Amino acid sequence: VWLGTHVDPDGDAIGSLLGLGRILRTSGRQVTLACADPVPSDLRFLPGCSTIVDSGPDAREHDLAVALDAGDAGRLGDLFDAGTWSTLPSLVIDHHVSNPGFGDVNLIDARAASTAEMIVGLLEELGLEPDAGAATCLLTGIVTDTIGFRTSNTTAATLAAAAKLMQAGAPLTEITQRIFSTRPLGALRLQGRALDRLRVEGPFAIASITLADLGELNVGPAEARGISSFLATAAEPRAVAVLREREDGQIDVSMRARPGADLSQAAQALGGGGHALAAGARVDGPLAAAEEQVLEALRVHAAPPPAPDSP
Ligand code: AMP
Ligand code: MN
Ligand code: MN
Repeated sequence: VWLGTHVDPDGDAIGSLLGLGRILRTSGRQVTLACADPVPSDLRFLPGCSTIVDSGPDAREHDLAVALDAGDAGRLGDLFDAGTWSTLPSLVIDHHVSNPGFGDVNLIDARAASTAEMIVGLLEELGLEPDAGAATCLLTGIVTDTIGFRTSNTTAATLAAAAKLMQAGAPLTEITQRIFSTRPLGALRLQGRALDRLRVEGPFAIASITLADLGELNVGPAEARGISSFLATAAEPRAVAVLREREDGQIDVSMRARPGADLSQAAQALGGGGHALAAGARVDGPLAAAEEQVLEALRVHAAPPPAPDSP
């Protein structure tokens, strides 16, 4: 079985990949685990992450390709090749509402707060028990995607899945410490710069991070993750967009909204995808033009409802 996850992987991507991979391996399957980008440093404590490769499925070697936490085929990056994918059966397991269902079989549950939560449900149906290692990977997926059980899609089922993983030996406190309470100083300083630069435009706020910022503070692009969630704690803006310059000249856009707003349309208009309150896209540079493009998409697709007429 070949299992792959999305580019710029987050905790749900890596946690689901390693968790399901480990369970399949334990139950006698041969597995290949793949991601086009490296594992971010804060997730390298997860067991098995050194076994992740960056190659796509091969019909001579694999009987099945499984895509995890990837909202569309493009999110697999170089791992997706339409020709190869058409030659072997494929399974998509994902929780993005915008997923078109690009597999032969598609398990898509937009109510699930993470792909890892879906995998816990799947294991129950299959009668498979995770060991402590797999449980740690899956709980990391749940904890990161729900920002510590705080997102609006966190349900009783999310907590029940997490409880099951703790019973299997997953250390919740260690995971939350590593994910939320341990950041390189440079990453914190980068947050400071983004906060200083945050520009309010009507109901929206926007900030950009340049390649020069990353160089000066000696932080990798993965360390910029989390800045949009941090800035979205600002009470006034309805939504916040953080733009980050990439080496290839393109711009990664990460957006967060306050409950009530819906970013998924704006993200799709920018060629990306995501959820109502957390969405993203990759757009063309330069930064100044990208900022205007993002603001325009927000104005058109995520505007507040018109105020009721005053009596
Ligand atoms: P992020 O802001 O990077 O944490 O991503 C928030 C959400 O948007 C995640 O659910 C991603 O799957 C989705 N997303 C981010 N970037 C893209 C992209 N370039 N294309 C499609 N979906 C994206
Ligand atoms: Mn993800
Ligand atoms: Mn996810």
